[in-house]
Amino acid sequence: MGENLSKTVAQGRAFMNIIGGEQVEAKSGARMDVVAPSDGLAFGSIPASNEADVDAAVRSARHAYEQGEWGKMAAVDRGRILLRLSMLITENADELAALESRDTGKPIKQGIADIVGCARYFEFYGGAADKIHGDTIPIAGDFLALTLREPHGVVAGIIPWNYPAQILGRVAGAGLAMGNSLVLKPAEDACLSVIRIAELALDAGLPAGAFNVVCGTGKDAGAALSAHPDVDFVTFTGSPLTGTAIQQAAAINNRGVTMELGGKSPQIIFADADLDAALPLVVNAIIQNGGQTCSAGSRVLIEASIYDEFTKRLAEKFSKLVAGPHDADLDLGPLISKKQHALVQGFIDEATQSGTELLAQGTIAGNAPEGGYYCAPVLFGNVEANSSIAQKEVFGPVLAAFSFKDEDEAVMLANNTDFGLVAAIWTRDGARQMRMAKRVRAGQVFVNTYGAGGGIELPFGGFKKSGHGREKGFDGLFHMSATKTVVFKHN
Ligand code: ADP
Repeated sequence: MGENLSKTVAQGRAFMNIIGGEQVEAKSGARMDVVAPSDGLAFGSIPASNEADVDAAVRSARHAYEQGEWGKMAAVDRGRILLRLSMLITENADELAALESRDTGKPIKQGIADIVGCARYFEFYGGAADKIHGDTIPIAGDFLALTLREPHGVVAGIIPWNYPAQILGRVAGAGLAMGNSLVLKPAEDACLSVIRIAELALDAGLPAGAFNVVCGTGKDAGAALSAHPDVDFVTFTGSPLTGTAIQQAAAINNRGVTMELGGKSPQIIFADADLDAALPLVVNAIIQNGGQTCSAGSRVLIEASIYDEFTKRLAEKFSKLVAGPHDADLDLGPLISKKQHALVQGFIDEATQSGTELLAQGTIAGNAPEGGYYCAPVLFGNVEANSSIAQKEVFGPVLAAFSFKDEDEAVMLANNTDFGLVAAIWTRDGARQMRMAKRVRAGQVFVNTYGAGGGIELPFGGFKKSGHGREKGFDGLFHMSATKTVVFKHN
């Protein structure tokens, strides 16, 4: 990709909401700056929407679902539109990746990976749209019972800032394939790719009103959307605290929700593991996207006999990591915002001040602009099991290392947080792989790998405070539907 595109894309552009197939301004006319995390400078603007805009978007979604072409469309035709959208995303990948990268600060290579992932979601769900069947159920007597999988109707999706395009892909791919109408509220810190992809969806032939985007803050636009009485289902990815607020709002209308709320995911390294294979994946799982990933591998649990050797090798890697501007395409970019930078730095300061062993720290590139939100990656060793960096989701490039003496202690440590999203087990012992996979409480467990292949096809979601419901794969599709049971009496 041309370096220039990621420096200049969308410069000065006033982005709009998309409601009823039109680009519209917030009714109040209010706007917010779009800030590039790489230099802290505004380069565009978005509407600062409120309840009135949310209401217009929900009405438009309802109309498309109840009266419009969308609600009547055959599944095969819905699927074809999503496949066309997938192709349009691929054709526009350079622009979209540059946009995602400038808007979030992530290195260009990650921006490209995210757009490829987004296109793949629409391909997967486009292909699945006409392959969703109900059941027939044998019941006694002169009865025939069957189930229909029906869309919820109007689905609200509240999207975070870490992977806007990918999370849009899994929400909109599954939601539209199932026949729902959508109102998406992307994060105020990063929403440009969501707006552009909603524009491309119209070019792909998606009927007006099926896919609406309302920009604005969580407090003004997000809260209004999750509490809207005409929304049938809410899906959210973000922080546990915001997840609770959204569930409370949706509960006023007794609406269903899917919640994907982050994690404190462990990588468990046994002494018999292939350490050469584990090492790069352990590093990557915490620096990818600057650690601002729900499934970040933020804890590494290492069997005592190899603890010194493995942490030494990790430290060598960490000390060579470099954070820099998105267009420099280094190991990691800046964090998303000043607020996030302060939060992450707070965790690092607390750990350092309480005497936690700092094993290694990366650096910030010399040419990184002063106004950017850079954080050099940090590796802490012999971390105390109940400390903040052992328990809380830092959402930054901070890896906490622990040692364990046997399988029981590894399981105890792995499960000793409020979260349960992802875990990895590194061992060559097949029986131990099975035992550990069963005992570790996480929605996804990887054995001798981590975050396999982007996971579009793999159900994803958490136990405990990591949330409930599942996204991705067919599970994600089913969560975008409700089962209707129909019983016939005959004789
Ligand atoms: P952060 O605090 O790092 O911004 P959040 O989990 O709060 O992370 O944000 C994820 C998404 O949730 C964003 O789109 C944000 O605007 C939205 N959001 C924040 N607060 C609320 C709320 N009270 N109700 C609905 N959405 C919200």
